Amino acid sequence: MTDHIDQPLSIWYCDECHQAIHKPAEGMLTWIDSTDWRKKSSEFQRKMPNRFSIVHQNVCDISGDGQSMHLEAMLGVTGLQWWASNLWNGPTADPKIFNGDFEAQSAMDLLYRLQVPYYEQARQYFDSSYASLELSNRTVMSDEILKGIIENAGQAI
Ligand SMILES: [Zn+2]
Repeated sequence: MTDHIDQPLSIWYCDECHQAIHKPAEGMLTWIDSTDWRKKSSEFQRKMPNRFSIVHQNVCDISGDGQSMHLEAMLGVTGLQWWASNLWNGPTADPKIFNGDFEAQSAMDLLYRLQVPYYEQARQYFDSSYASLELSNRTVMSDEILKGIIENAGQAI
């Protein structure tokens, strides 16, 4: 049982070194955008960005071919607008070309990591049997459910 629940949306865990990122200013959001911008603009080629990672700025931001933004700029309403604009300009604008090509799980995981209180800390325990049971029939991950996972992770593993 863990004795510590972090303030929501105040800490992230680096996808590269797995250590804590204690301040948004220390983090970067990276992703791959495989849109082929060389194609004619009349041809709708935009793809949904994928392979999102949250990493320590400079130290762990080692993906050479990806795009990145400061984590600080990706939080709150601004971050939500950025996230939503990718759906709005992509799968929403032309769903037909995104069949089988849109990694919804990665995009949803990112949304939760940036916007949903306690998700990032609870996410560290999603492999536990307690979390599997808790999340199996849920459609909404409320604060209470996520805090329960943090508090009880390890007990039922
Ligand atoms: Zn790191």
